Amino acid sequence: MAFELEALPYDAGALEPHIDRETMEIHHDRHHQAYIDNLNKAIAGTDAENASLEEILKHVSKYSPAVRNNGGGHFNHKLFWSVLGPNAGGAPTGELAQAIDETFGSFDELKKKLQEAGATRFGSGWSWLIVGEDGKLAVTSTPNQDNPLMDVAEVKGTPVFGIDVWEHAYYLKYQNKRPAYLDAIFNVVNWDAVAQNYASAK
Ligand code: MN
Repeated sequence: MAFELEALPYDAGALEPHIDRETMEIHHDRHHQAYIDNLNKAIAGTDAENASLEEILKHVSKYSPAVRNNGGGHFNHKLFWSVLGPNAGGAPTGELAQAIDETFGSFDELKKKLQEAGATRFGSGWSWLIVGEDGKLAVTSTPNQDNPLMDVAEVKGTPVFGIDVWEHAYYLKYQNKRPAYLDAIFNVVNWDAVAQNYASAK
């Protein structure tokens, strides 16, 4: 079955001033759509056509580079839209907040680690908060459209939050200032959605 682009769960301008409408429109309507179109082309006529996106990623090494790049692109962006939102920001609460404190010492420390992972990722990629194979939270980063679900990932786990550090995610507003984008994005993180991802991943 062919994959399809879902509408953003909020207005494209809803994350302003932190992420501008034009960036969101181009990022969702064109970049994410292109990953989906190219994924559908790449899986046509292969056994991946009948597999779930998660199954494809888990065994991604047996497929073509196009499946890896575009399957990752589809999964990563789907997650990205869902963990952002208007009237968000602040800090996590409940079980997630407790796990963050236990693993990183504090929320500020986690934030710093996510920002460092994103800022030091050379070229394009993602900064991730994952539940690792040991059931514990960890921060990691992947190049291009790889993600920690993939069998090719250096550090494997279930992503519960991710930050897109491709230039297309921030260049119109922040140009070369990736760290400024990595600061601003924390004003629009939907921690309730991240907490739900954590609860189902652990
Ligand atoms: Mn992107």
